[in-house]
Amino acid sequence: QENHLFSRIRAAIRNEQAPFIEKPSGEVITYGGLLARSAAYANALVALGVKPGDRVAVQVEKSADALMLYLGTVRAGAVFLPLNTAYTPAEIDYFVGDAAPAVLVCDPARQEALAPIAQKVGARVETLDPEGRGSLSDAADAAATDFDDVARGADDLAAILYTSGTTGRSKGAMLSHENLTSNASVLVDYWRYSSDDVLLHALPIFHTHGLFVATNVTLLAGGSMLFLPKFDLDEILRLMPRATTMMGVPTFYARLLGTDRFTRELAAHMRLFVSGSAPLSAEVHKAFSARTGHAILERYGMTETNMNTSNPYDGDRRPGTVGYPLPGVELRIADPDSGKVLAQGEVGVIEVKGPNVFKGYWQMPEKTASEFRTDGFFITGDMGLVDERGYVSIVGRAKDLIITGGFNVYPAEVEAAIDEVEGVAESAVIGVPHADFGEGVVAVVAPHKGVSLDPEAVVTPLAERLARFKQPKKVYVLPELPRNTMGKIQKNVLRDMYKNTFA
Ligand code: ATP
Ligand code: MG
Repeated sequence: QENHLFSRIRAAIRNEQAPFIEKPSGEVITYGGLLARSAAYANALVALGVKPGDRVAVQVEKSADALMLYLGTVRAGAVFLPLNTAYTPAEIDYFVGDAAPAVLVCDPARQEALAPIAQKVGARVETLDPEGRGSLSDAADAAATDFDDVARGADDLAAILYTSGTTGRSKGAMLSHENLTSNASVLVDYWRYSSDDVLLHALPIFHTHGLFVATNVTLLAGGSMLFLPKFDLDEILRLMPRATTMMGVPTFYARLLGTDRFTRELAAHMRLFVSGSAPLSAEVHKAFSARTGHAILERYGMTETNMNTSNPYDGDRRPGTVGYPLPGVELRIADPDSGKVLAQGEVGVIEVKGPNVFKGYWQMPEKTASEFRTDGFFITGDMGLVDERGYVSIVGRAKDLIITGGFNVYPAEVEAAIDEVEGVAESAVIGVPHADFGEGVVAVVAPHKGVSLDPEAVVTPLAERLARFKQPKKVYVLPELPRNTMGKIQKNVLRDMYKNTFA
């Protein structure tokens, strides 16, 4: 039977002996092993009463079995719903109440705390630990290793993924089989992915980056992954000489540059470094090429849309830009209020349309309707522009735009200028209430290790580069900026910390 996503994954398997995952212990799961183990999970889910369209909510540590559970869920025609491992039971209560899954899979250590939450929606609780053991893997051990994939069409849901919650409460993005399949297959071509590729996988698998971009691209290319439980600098340095590709958030690259052990020789076997999920500073991009000779390839995506744009494989990978719209993705810049499409070079909200764009927010029809234009374009909420060569740049989120004395200030522009100041490792520019100007520009900067920064010294060099209204009226120095698990700077936390600056 045709299961839109899994049929494509199956069709990409040319050799069942080929490795799919290698664990740090050296244990290998081949593509044949993938077929058997994901079938066992599909059988175990069906035996638990999971029906096509049911949600399978999963809050577990990263493991190979957790990925097999993802694939088993898809094969059973159910909807995979991964949850950030950092969420507390109180937070899980919201997600489980919202999504009403048939099964909640959690770490054995959490079973007791989560059981009453699951019970409220009639979900069964099963367990999976960091080694991939637990009640659900026991059930999979006892299950048959072949499975008739449940028929699913292009528009059927494969997953609900909650957004990172950077700007507010996380929303459940409904992703169809075709959303995932089309995006992964475009990226395989765009990034020249092949069965020879060995991906250094250190991202979490509850987020679109590690779950869909990294895993689905590897699957559709028939490649393999060195599968690390998390970003561990020593492990990355140990394994890199065997890898060909790495996908990371910008902090991965900053951390690699922070050690002298990361050298050109160590990266010599690598073919491609990809960055996304948060802006990669031009400084890190340049320092990385100087150190390794590799230009990091930055791309831009969202939970709701999968990947929208990418710097080219061949040709200029331009620091500070997110490259071109991917094949099949229509992208335009519009006035955020009126929706009027703007001319090339003008700054506005980025809107996208294509087979990558999600089916709406789970149980939020009004929110969904308000985020789409009548002609089907999705309003991303990211502000950006397209330059004369067609490269897209992001200047910040609409919600982070600062309006001071009637002037718009785009945080990314000010941050880029600050990042070039001697001693600055990174910066975040925010607007906080100001009696005269409405909002006042505030910069929060983190110095390089061992450097002590004088706030005044940060502002002075900006005078030549930025119009006066863009210059921060106040600079705070912090040892490091607050980030969430995806490496995104939490500007809402900073706005709250410094809200009384001009009071
Ligand atoms: P929420 O929607 O809940 O506030 P979030 O937007 O951070 O959280 P994600 O879907 O994980 O949740 O992240 C998508 C966002 O990440 C994009 O809208 C964009 O703001 C940012 N992003 C992703 N890649 C890049 C990039 N290369 N450069 C700049 N920003 C990026
Ligand atoms: Mg978002």
